[in-house]
Amino acid sequence: MTTSATDPTEIAFLRQQPVKMLIGGQWVPAASGKTFATINPATGTVLAQVAEGESEDINRAVAAARKAFESGPWPKLTPSQRGRLLWRLAELVEQHTTELAELETLDNGKPIKYSRAADVPLTADHFRYFAGWATKLEGETIPVSIPNMFTYTLREPVGVVGQIIPWNFPLQMASWKLAPALACGNTVVLKPAEQTPLSALRLGELICEAGFPEGVVNIVPGFGETAGAALAAHPDVDKIAFTGSTEVGKKILQASAGNLKRVTLELGGKSPNIIFPDADLKYAVRGALTAIFFNQGQVCTAGSRLFVHKSVYDQVLSGLSDAAQKMKMGPGLDPATDLGPLVSQEQLERVTGYIEAGKQEGAVAITGGKRAGSDLANGYFVEPTVFDKVEDEMTIAREEIFGPVVAALPFESVEEVAARANRSIYGLAAGVWTNDVKQAHKMAALLKSGVVWVNTYNQFDAAAPFGGYKQSGYGREMGHAVLDAYTQIKTVWVNLR
Ligand code: NDP
Repeated sequence: MTTSATDPTEIAFLRQQPVKMLIGGQWVPAASGKTFATINPATGTVLAQVAEGESEDINRAVAAARKAFESGPWPKLTPSQRGRLLWRLAELVEQHTTELAELETLDNGKPIKYSRAADVPLTADHFRYFAGWATKLEGETIPVSIPNMFTYTLREPVGVVGQIIPWNFPLQMASWKLAPALACGNTVVLKPAEQTPLSALRLGELICEAGFPEGVVNIVPGFGETAGAALAAHPDVDKIAFTGSTEVGKKILQASAGNLKRVTLELGGKSPNIIFPDADLKYAVRGALTAIFFNQGQVCTAGSRLFVHKSVYDQVLSGLSDAAQKMKMGPGLDPATDLGPLVSQEQLERVTGYIEAGKQEGAVAITGGKRAGSDLANGYFVEPTVFDKVEDEMTIAREEIFGPVVAALPFESVEEVAARANRSIYGLAAGVWTNDVKQAHKMAALLKSGVVWVNTYNQFDAAAPFGGYKQSGYGREMGHAVLDAYTQIKTVWVNLR
């Protein structure tokens, strides 16, 4: 493990400037020679210059991934050997916990206590979980009704996979994408988000160190409109896996039509978190707090619509508001920080724009409601904000804000709250707080979302499928459900006559 650094210059990875991209096992500059700056959101200062990939770099990366998929050592590795590589990568991630956590916190802004205790260990867990799947990709024998036929299926990799990831959990998103793709024998071109390319590129170094053959994983940092769009449209890419906004998800789908790529999309959300009066309110308030403020609210599953039964509404709101005010806002590297900055100036403007829209439409911010000032004024900090007097039709109750802003909404009956919770273009996640087991299961059945958490929130595990209903996307990540996305089934008929 590296020692703890408080100054970015103490991190060896950041001393190489500019940071290069990984293509065909080599660390190379962009074909154009261009670079872009990645910013420390706690201070607004430049952390590093990074090679700016564009379509020519994507072409080179896809060619390297194709070559690695068709020839060389990768397709000849046994499943056990593939699994061992993933396991080795998990070990390397764990060995570099401190360094990776600091890079993640510097680039994204998130509190170091979470990078260290959640982002990095869960990344390692993900690689380890999928290491196990490499040896369990079984076909089936099919009892067909045609005499003398022996019919079976093979589960084969899809080919060259393009993966486009966002900035809210950069390292974890890289693992969610890479681990199943590699376990299934595909090769990859990964494009990290322009705001947070560093941890994925450092992971690329660990991938090389783990011994993955060259070209199996290629990492091309750059902008969505250039590098991302080129990857989504590339005729030699067989599949795209995307996490990000619903708006860009639709563009990816259109771009993929040229060669009918397989597409999986994990998109936005406006998740309802519902507190019934019989819930243990102490835990429900704490759950509501972390549901919205974890990762500064920049979570696709953020519990941003807080439905509270009318009889306990005032009590819950006052508890939530008190707890929000006690959260310590500050630079992510400070171990005491609960709430870091938003990721970028753009996200700061987006979130404060939503706060203003809420106020203009008549909602009342009983806590927060503005950008943080004084010693945090140079960073992109927004106070944890709780809105009261919200109507379902207001912008802040309908659109994904992706910031530390919750809209509180009172309700009276089960049927009413289920209908209102489901009245959204999204359907990613939902929370239910109740001690009535029948009510819990009833709500789980009624809610139109890919995940329902009961008396808990934001639980993720490599073994549990995750993905959206409606415009929150399609396809599932994690668990064995994701294997369908990274394999294709071949049916073999053998005439035994
Ligand atoms: P985007 O959807 O724009 O970004 C996600 C990824 O897609 C990034 O790597 C981005 O590149 C890339 N991208 C952007 N445009 C294209 C394109 N035309 N073709 C291919 N790839 C592209 O999200 P934003 O960062 O703009 O955030 C906007 C909103 O999206 C947030 O406020 C939030 O509501 C939602 N969001 C949802 C996430 C989720 O987890 N579901 C995660 C992030 C955002 P680049 O590097 O240039 O950004």
